[in-house]
Amino acid sequence: MISALMPNFSRADIAFDHGHGAWLFDTQGRRYLDFGAGIATSSLGHGHPHLVQAIAAQAAKVIHVSNLYRVPQAETLAARFVAASFADSVFFCNSGAEANEGLIKAIRKAQSDAGHPERTRIICFEGAFHGRTLATISATGNPKYLAGFGKPVEGFDHVPFNNLNEVRNAITAETAGILVEPIQGEGGIRAADEAFLRGLRATCDEFGLFLGFDEVQTGMGRTGKLFAYQWSDVEPDVMSLAKGIGGGFPMAALLAREHVARALVPGSHGTTFGGGPLACAAGNAVLDVILADGFLEQMNEVAAYLRAGLAALVARHGSVFTEVRGTGLLLGLKCAVPNGDVQAQAMRQGLLSVAAGENVLRLLPPLIITRAECDEALAMLGKTAQALTMEAAK
Ligand SMILES: *Cc1c(COP(=O)(O)O)cnc(C)c1O
Repeated sequence: MISALMPNFSRADIAFDHGHGAWLFDTQGRRYLDFGAGIATSSLGHGHPHLVQAIAAQAAKVIHVSNLYRVPQAETLAARFVAASFADSVFFCNSGAEANEGLIKAIRKAQSDAGHPERTRIICFEGAFHGRTLATISATGNPKYLAGFGKPVEGFDHVPFNNLNEVRNAITAETAGILVEPIQGEGGIRAADEAFLRGLRATCDEFGLFLGFDEVQTGMGRTGKLFAYQWSDVEPDVMSLAKGIGGGFPMAALLAREHVARALVPGSHGTTFGGGPLACAAGNAVLDVILADGFLEQMNEVAAYLRAGLAALVARHGSVFTEVRGTGLLLGLKCAVPNGDVQAQAMRQGLLSVAAGENVLRLLPPLIITRAECDEALAMLGKTAQALTMEAAK
């Protein structure tokens, strides 16, 4: 008989009771070092006092009012994102897929408003991940996610990642924009070359297209800057955020320059829950921490330390780990054995991680991780490699 909880995930047989910092404690009392952070989402770790206090205080005042009224917490948070980014205006919603739906709609509508209603197609990339709605699985383009759901939503063309010639060849009179992750997360921590991003910007400017960045996974400090695009000198016209934005509280955002944002007039797009007082209280609390003086500098030091430790691990255990990938705390180990086996063995050692494409194991600790905790993770990964090597020798 089917489980009451719909069986659309293959879950590990483990349930967490509570968490503290980078640690999660299961219902048996065993503790795990959380290098998955709920898929790059629990950015401040677990039980962060500032986030907990902000959510509790706001919940006691008012949780939800709808967007029929002003929401001061959302106005404040939007102004902070505008001040800290390329954007002129922000739309809040509830998930990465929903933010990308808004991004796709904004690009199409802005082209239509500019006198080009025929420009509806968006160029996306092989290895991308943009979400699980009908439009975003079509933008993702992975046949595994499309299978059984009928004809993909029209309007997405896929080309190889990091190949500007292919992008330019794919442009037609119907092209409206380009959607790209500065670092493909689910795809296996594959970074866009800076020259490629610059080429995308120049191509968009040349053809009158809008450049969209999906920073659902790379944003909110994950790569060591508030947004990954800030490592380059390239700015998008529109950008989606989710995952770490609420420190685990469900929330997402669409950031846009004015020429795209003004397309979303009243009646053209909306949400019931999005940008509510509670979510925005969480978002403001997360920004308080990430934007505090020295926070990202400190995080980058720890990230460099972890990366060096991972490189040493690759050097020592080449039969299990072959390469370190990523920036900041968006890190990946390319594996020589199935990454699912590595993930399961690491969990037995007490370390949580997340599998990704190209047989990569993602390491996505909370941004508050310490060097000492990195040492513990590296030791557990060393034991993981030893156990897998012994198994292979049997
Ligand atoms: C996780 C993710 C999404 C989808 O976010 P959901 O909140 O699961 O809808 C979209 N884009 C990227 C890059 C992601 O990592």
